[in-house]
Amino acid sequence: MALCYVNWDQLSLDLASLKSINKQHDEVLICELNSLATHVKHHMKKLVFLFSSMRHFANELEKKGIKVIYVTLDDPNNTHNITDEISRHQKEHTEIVLTEASEYHIQKQFKALAKSHPVTILEDDRFLANHQDFADWANGKKQLRMEFFYREMRKRYQILMDGDKPEGGKWNYDSENRKPPKQGLKVPLPTQTKPDSITLGVIDLVKNNFKHFGDIEPFFYAVTRKDALKVLHEFIEQRLVLFGDYQDAMVEGEAWMFHSHISFYLNNGLLLPLECILAAQNAYDENRVPLSATEGFIRQVLGWREFIRGIYWLKMPSYAEGNFLNAKHPLPEFFWDGQTEMNCIKQVVNETKAHAYAHHIQRLMVIGNFSLIAGLDPKAVNEWFWIVYCDAYQWVELPNVSGMALFADGGVLGSKPYCSSGAYINKMSNYCKGCRYNVKVKLGDDACPFNYLYWDFLIRNHDKLHGNQRLSFMYNMLNKMSIAQKTAITQSSKSFLKSINPTQ
Ligand code: FAD
Ligand code: SF4
Repeated sequence: MALCYVNWDQLSLDLASLKSINKQHDEVLICELNSLATHVKHHMKKLVFLFSSMRHFANELEKKGIKVIYVTLDDPNNTHNITDEISRHQKEHTEIVLTEASEYHIQKQFKALAKSHPVTILEDDRFLANHQDFADWANGKKQLRMEFFYREMRKRYQILMDGDKPEGGKWNYDSENRKPPKQGLKVPLPTQTKPDSITLGVIDLVKNNFKHFGDIEPFFYAVTRKDALKVLHEFIEQRLVLFGDYQDAMVEGEAWMFHSHISFYLNNGLLLPLECILAAQNAYDENRVPLSATEGFIRQVLGWREFIRGIYWLKMPSYAEGNFLNAKHPLPEFFWDGQTEMNCIKQVVNETKAHAYAHHIQRLMVIGNFSLIAGLDPKAVNEWFWIVYCDAYQWVELPNVSGMALFADGGVLGSKPYCSSGAYINKMSNYCKGCRYNVKVKLGDDACPFNYLYWDFLIRNHDKLHGNQRLSFMYNMLNKMSIAQKTAITQSSKSFLKSINPTQ
């Protein structure tokens, strides 16, 4: 008789451990734990989403005749600790069966338990490249670049392939994607699910037990596989066609754009990556969406998502300590309350507070870029990203934040820092129109802070970055600046950074 513990991000009938159990006599254990909810102080909406999904999943298992032991947050016997809960419930069970954890700190607990209990840990085969596949691919490579990993994955899974050639003759259609937003662009509403009595109960539970960042209501996320499939379906039908075109675009008041909004469900188990990829490929095969949009989307799921996870497990635990640029400033208060005159940041923080969601370019080129060029401490930035997004688990936020956004890993994940002045935000959004700063002005009180912080970042990190080929054009420009110009940049940056944190 086996006891199968299912963690809050493993809510899938396709989970290896669940597939292995015998429903005649084995039992499944699912627990609402303070240790998970407060490991970092997750967004209120994320807690509702996860706890409600867990409760619905338990019901689904029971409907299939599987015996579930469900420990609620307010159960007085709840120890709020994963391994203690597993030990407490292991009675006549001769085996504890687990699927490997997605996050390092939880896998460590699983392994510790295995030292004193009869634990079997199975590989998580919902991911499309396992740890060994990624390690084999990475082995001997000087640089790990997503593009080449992604091509291997396309070939291996025969996705958008024409024999051994990429469909349409090119691996990448980025040049046709990534357009600035058009005026009057009509964005469809996101798929909304009405909260049922279970979700309403969880909303009260979370309100009564936590005082974390973020708005709970309105709550309209899917909390069952059936409703998550509806989100995927509506994305394919309504948004995928313009996904590529507006992948990088940002519009005030339009949090959802043409993105898929499936990361919440992919990362907690309600959706599987391959079914999302195949749904997009199918729409392309039926001539319902262009190749550029389909490839752009598939690259994210088959390429980036798997690559990010590969890097995490290849490099942990040291990856979490990376601070290549020795950045050390604390987070400004406006990361929590949105009270800043920088309109781009205000918009993204407010949307994040409301939805526990922001799309990739908002995360990378607004919050991430600002954190990079303002020299914010990677640990604090990582914690913020882990807290505030509904899809955030350390395995996925850490490489995105430390690797992609902050270059804190010194170039393991990307070949150069994604640093940019206000020009990029101005090109890809309408945020600057409503801003008190002027994106065209480089110095002085009215200047967009991204402009001088950008150059100051290059000046401050000259020794570490000037040899980077991909920054040589910018360093050549910097070399042509007078000493007086550079001093003015440094002074503007210093006084701005002091204004957002008087202790600096
Ligand atoms: P879409 O734009 O529609 O993309 C489709 C899917 O591709 C996503 O659902 C996601 O599963 C996958 N994907 C795309 N880009 C990435 C990527 N870089 N890494 C991993 N998967 C990717 N994604 C998370 O799932 N959790 C995080 O905690 C997270 N933190 C991020 C932090 C930073 C600084 C940055 C730059 C990116 C982060 N991302 C994270 C990646 C990306 O921003 C989100 O996956 C995406 O915004 C989710 O929205 P969507 O489902 O509408 O995605
Ligand atoms: Fe952001 Fe600068 Fe544009 Fe204001 S002017 S919205 S601070 S990029």
